[in-house]
Amino acid sequence: MHRLLDLWLGIEPAQRLRLRQTSLAMALMGLCAPLLHYAVSVAHDPRGPLLWAWTAASLGGMALVYAAIRSGWSRRFADPSLTSLQIAFAITSGAAGYALAGPMRGAVFPVLTLVLMFGMFQLRARSAYALSLFALTLFGLAMAAMAWLRPAVYVPAVEFGHFLMLACMLPAVAVLTARLSRIRHRLSQQREELARALAQLQAIATRDELTGLPNRRQMQALMDQELLRSRRHGHDFCIALLDLDHFKRVNDLHGHAAGDAVLRAFAQAGQAALRATDVLARWGGEEFIVLMPDTAMPPALAGMQRLRQQVAALRVDVGGGEAVAITVSIGLTGHHPGDTLAQTLQRADQLLYQAKHQGRDRIGTEASADIDGLA
Ligand code: GH3
Ligand code: MG
Ligand code: MG
Repeated sequence: MHRLLDLWLGIEPAQRLRLRQTSLAMALMGLCAPLLHYAVSVAHDPRGPLLWAWTAASLGGMALVYAAIRSGWSRRFADPSLTSLQIAFAITSGAAGYALAGPMRGAVFPVLTLVLMFGMFQLRARSAYALSLFALTLFGLAMAAMAWLRPAVYVPAVEFGHFLMLACMLPAVAVLTARLSRIRHRLSQQREELARALAQLQAIATRDELTGLPNRRQMQALMDQELLRSRRHGHDFCIALLDLDHFKRVNDLHGHAAGDAVLRAFAQAGQAALRATDVLARWGGEEFIVLMPDTAMPPALAGMQRLRQQVAALRVDVGGGEAVAITVSIGLTGHHPGDTLAQTLQRADQLLYQAKHQGRDRIGTEASADIDGLA
């Protein structure tokens, strides 16, 4: 059953929705055909060829619409559901059915309303008004023609009454459709605004505003993830805490804005020095943190040396023709299996303190505390 449905509707969600709607319309048309045959037969009205022509045209037309959508051909149009076309076609078929139905033609009116209701899901206000005018014109022509051709059955005064009724009902349906269209439009606008706001909130919640780097909260989440991964797969990962040296002087000598520029430049240079899988985040103030997932100590140390050197080579333009040079001290540690993240971070902090204490612009590691400086 599922297989059959997939074959009939395809598997793409948007296509399925369109074809569902069209299938419903086809089913409705399929039900209307025997009803019209019944109407003609009770009137003992010998219009066989015309009736069969109507049946073939109506069902064939719907089949063509189905094929146009199912094959993907209709995608070239603004509305691939071909809603307006389907409704215009159903109205035409309805008007022809009205001309054939004889005494039972009153049954066509609720069907016509139903046809217009299909537009409520899709149509813009303008198309709704246009289609209701189209329906009124076509039915008006059918009524006038039949009142003239078969006045005994299509009594002119009755037809005029029918026309007046349609002239009241059709615009009302169009007004309702237009209102629904406006509501739909507003809803979709609100949905877009919400999605935008959500993306903005997500950026605010996970990014540091000044540097654009992941913020502390985001880094915490990334480290938690990495801890889980390393437990499952048994691999190592390293964490480094970075603190700019004598950063207070930059602020004091060149102003806070210059300090901000230096932080941004450091973030950029730091990221450029790292591998794509490493994450540099702002830990707070002029402190940063690097997570090196699935990395053992030797490559981690090499990465930090590269970063330290590139930062030392950096000259940040702080305006007024002045360029500021900075250095960074780093505490680097590997995560020990069985430790908590807090323990690892504390170790990195101690190693950073060591690096500061030993003269800055260097890396403190567990293996040998006096590393670098000259590297
Ligand atoms: P050390 O080598 O020991 O780390 O010296 P330091 O001057 O870098 O250390 P300290 O912690 O005394 O100074 C950090 C300074 O960083 C103080 C603070 O005003 C400045 N700072 C923190 N956040 C920002 C920021 O977002 N922008 C700017 N411009 N300055 C900041
Ligand atoms: Mg500091
Ligand atoms: Mg500092």
